Amino acid sequence: MVIRNIGELVTNDPALGHGPLGLVRDAALVLDGERVAWVGPTSDAPAADEAFDAKGRAVLPGFVDSHGHLVFAGERAEEFAARMSGEPYKAGGIRTTVEETRAATDDQLRANVRRLVDEMTGQGTTTVECKSGYGLTVEDERRALRIAADEVDEVTYLGAHVVPQGIEPDDYVKLVAGEMLEACAPYARWIDVFCEHGAFDEDQTREILDAGVRAGLTPRLHANQLGHGPGVRLAVEYQAASADHCTFLTDADVAALAGSQTVATLLPGVEFSTRQPYPDARRLIEAGATVALATDCNPGSCYTSSMPFCIAVAVRDMRMTPAEAVWAATAGGAKALRRTDVGVLAPGARADVQLLGAPSYIHLAYRPGVPQTAAVWKRGVRHPDRRAAGSEGGGAGVRE
Ligand SMILES: [Zn+2]
Repeated sequence: MVIRNIGELVTNDPALGHGPLGLVRDAALVLDGERVAWVGPTSDAPAADEAFDAKGRAVLPGFVDSHGHLVFAGERAEEFAARMSGEPYKAGGIRTTVEETRAATDDQLRANVRRLVDEMTGQGTTTVECKSGYGLTVEDERRALRIAADEVDEVTYLGAHVVPQGIEPDDYVKLVAGEMLEACAPYARWIDVFCEHGAFDEDQTREILDAGVRAGLTPRLHANQLGHGPGVRLAVEYQAASADHCTFLTDADVAALAGSQTVATLLPGVEFSTRQPYPDARRLIEAGATVALATDCNPGSCYTSSMPFCIAVAVRDMRMTPAEAVWAATAGGAKALRRTDVGVLAPGARADVQLLGAPSYIHLAYRPGVPQTAAVWKRGVRHPDRRAAGSEGGGAGVRE
């Protein structure tokens, strides 16, 4: 299939077009099955069985959302309302979701993941990462990962999300690094730890990451979200694919990220939804670190599935340029997942494509809150229009 008359094509391949986004004007894109077959000016486009007229609108790679917690039951709207009314964040929040998740059936959990992935796809996201972390028993964590592995591209074992009630922290760390890891590793590519004061400290994080690496998993870390700490330093030391949050960084943390292959994944929806200070994206970019943007979609600290929302906030409040934010939400996310086949539209890449209803990618930040996604192809297959699909939004399937 050929997509013709693309007013502005973001390829993220500087060899194909202008600047870091590899912009091509008046472009065409040929998709062959699951892959991109050709990129270039519309006037040179080869013939194809099927043609789609982009009518001068912008086309981008699908977003790569490299951080989400989608396997859960219930929601916590009341907690959000209380937080916005000035009540302090209560630590029991995650445990509420753990209780509801353990009580849910497989079908209910699966339906919730599908609903969220569908919501994401309808907003341009074509690669999704999903963590466990609301089961916190061997069986419940394994179940979460089994469901995630069926529904998304990238799966992360996060038994070390929080210490559940009724078990000593040291005993729980042994479980996470032992029996639980053994049960979960077959379903996951990544291992993650919530390395934070009040969650898992440096020694506990090391014990869990060491065991995960021995089991063949690659680290990524929740790091430096709520305060300064060892998370980013450990992420770099362990050659983690990504250090996520990066809200409170020392100069040494920034230098370590800049001198490493570890991506700094910023999650501005969390700061928005918890009314916290944003991470300093400019400081990271100017130091030479690679920055990704992701949603951190979860029922507690950030219940958005929208990459366009994250882009708008990153541009408005974190002083990223629209080009930097769009790159971070596509190519940056791919780097955070060590993927070379997504986040880019070049021959051989996966045919994950989004068409905006606007002439330029800049509209993603310029028109905040306005749906911009006109069409999405995932592995070359057109995603059904989510408004036409109907009745999917609003939490059907999990809560009565
Ligand atoms: Zn998270």
